[in-house]
Amino acid sequence: MLILSIVLGAVLLLLGAVAQRDIRRSIRRLGEQNCSACGMPYGRTVASQARKDYITECEQARRESSGYRIHFAHEWRVECEACSGVGYYAFDTERMESKPSVHRFYP
Ligand SMILES: [Zn+2]
Repeated sequence: MLILSIVLGAVLLLLGAVAQRDIRRSIRRLGEQNCSACGMPYGRTVASQARKDYITECEQARRESSGYRIHFAHEWRVECEACSGVGYYAFDTERMESKPSVHRFYP
């Protein structure tokens, strides 16, 4: 039983490390993207804020729509610091989109 607990703990640690690596990579890749309006790179700070805003938005949708299953759009809304242009970073495909996807709600 002890060995099973140790193995399970190690697997969970590994999964957590992989998830953190993926998050850091997505933030880095978004930060390297250039604004489609002015061409300036978004930068790491803006990319990190885009992720935080996404989490806040998802938490709010969850609170306001309890009782629904929600399929969250897999993209971060990012606003350029230089020109305020808005883009949408699909973190699954690591591509910029000009139009937002929407969250879908199921009863
Ligand atoms: Zn811009």
